[in-house]
Amino acid sequence: MTELDKNLDTLATHLDRFRAQGIRNLINGETLPAATGAVFETRSPVDDSVICTVAKGGAEDIDAATRAARQAFPAWRDMAGTERKKILHRIADMIVERAEEIALCECWDTGQALRFMSKAALRGADNFRFFADRAPGARDGQTLPSDTLLNVTTRVPIGPVGIITPWNTPFMLSTWKIAPALAAGCTVVHKPAEFSPLTARILAEIAHEAGLPPGVWNLVNGMGEDAGRALTEHPAIKAIAFVGESKTGSMIMKQGAETLKRVHFELGGKNPVIVFDDADLDRALDAAIFMIYSLNGERCTSSSRLLVQDSIAEEFEAKLIERVNNIKVGHPLDPATEIGPLIHKVHFDKVTSYFEIAKQDGAIVAAGGERAGAQGWFVRPTLFTGATNDMRIAQEEIFGPVLTSIRFATEDEALRIANGTEYGLTAYVWTNDLTRAMRFTDRLEAGMIWVNSENVRHLPTPFGGVKASGIGRDGGDWSFEFYMEQKHIGFATGHHRIPKLGAS
Ligand code: NAD
Repeated sequence: MTELDKNLDTLATHLDRFRAQGIRNLINGETLPAATGAVFETRSPVDDSVICTVAKGGAEDIDAATRAARQAFPAWRDMAGTERKKILHRIADMIVERAEEIALCECWDTGQALRFMSKAALRGADNFRFFADRAPGARDGQTLPSDTLLNVTTRVPIGPVGIITPWNTPFMLSTWKIAPALAAGCTVVHKPAEFSPLTARILAEIAHEAGLPPGVWNLVNGMGEDAGRALTEHPAIKAIAFVGESKTGSMIMKQGAETLKRVHFELGGKNPVIVFDDADLDRALDAAIFMIYSLNGERCTSSSRLLVQDSIAEEFEAKLIERVNNIKVGHPLDPATEIGPLIHKVHFDKVTSYFEIAKQDGAIVAAGGERAGAQGWFVRPTLFTGATNDMRIAQEEIFGPVLTSIRFATEDEALRIANGTEYGLTAYVWTNDLTRAMRFTDRLEAGMIWVNSENVRHLPTPFGGVKASGIGRDGGDWSFEFYMEQKHIGFATGHHRIPKLGAS
């Protein structure tokens, strides 16, 4: 029996219950169908087979979930941070216990390769532990005494919040958003992406089994324009944390305007990896390949534009082509697989449309540029060379295993190209010239920059983008800044003169 067969067998045991009952919502601790009884199907991108049905929640379900979150809020807010910490650590423990189930379900639902997803479950647990440890200090503030007042600040959780997540690495991203909200003392209504509902359900179940009180975390499945929209418009929801496309972020901002929603947006990217000729080119090559072809290229922080100095471009691109052609596309549950299928036919059609667009714009398809296999949504890892920054393949987020290589001559030109998109999420700079690295990173328009490294996440650091890539930051204390209100209280010492009006 191969590893793949073994994994498929184990997966089948985990899917049985989803097949029998479908995925239902979790509102106020109760598993419920959608109020209308409507369902939709979730399919595996491996072979387009139906995995199970999913409750198609709408405004009524969102309202019920929000009422539950509102009712649960005062007790959760007032629970000692040390107690919240214990519950969040229990959730992390149970994620670790069910890591294999989570990884297998995530791979089957999204097409992500197991070699990356086994770690995603553990990273999800780490997110819970990180914010659990900070829960007791979440309300901490400052003392800012003046001559006549003892000024203190404190923070209070903002209230019930809505969390809307996308289909790329959905498990990890859900934990990334939900853990700090709960640690801060907020209650949550989570609307996961319609293409990837499996692990969101497992996660919510774990939370309840770990002792989270009913109503603190509610899960409503459904479509974006329906359940998602209702969540962003609900008056009792105080803030929306959203991860997804930039144009959806803009819609959510409009939808939330009426009720003055606080928003936190983690949006798209068209991130440059800039390779200067003085860099360690072997490491730069490994990192550039990893950052665009891992996770099927379906990652917001992917280095989808390679900016390579023309003095080394020929050799660098030749090595790149050889490696890209060698990447193993295959079944996501095969441990040897490096790239699995794209999430859905809709996304497959979008990604593959760029193969033609590239040619029309005058770029060269130097590797890939075609479907892989006859069934499922597999594509060959693709490299476009001879590109210029005004081409659609250099400007638009393709969100697949597709890299666009653009050559530059000087540092100024590299900077112009790097900053020449509407996005500004991450950038990766490869140079051994320290002064240039400092000068260059200072002028790069990106929320997160790595020098001589791929994206290595460190949870205390701020995560987020500039321009069309987002609003706000996650990580460290920044997450609490979003989920909490600052409060200032001034205690007078009784000595200052209060102006006397009408006292003549
Ligand atoms: P998407 O915007 O299509 O959907 C994301 C979520 O929003 C889904 O749950 C969807 O149902 C919901 N939604 C859609 N329309 C809505 C509406 N009108 N109101 C409320 N909710 C609505 O994004 P996607 O295709 O699922 O995910 C891929 C995108 O996410 C890419 O652009 C990627 O770059 C981005 N992303 C960004 C980050 C980051 O940290 N910056 C991280 C991961 C993904």
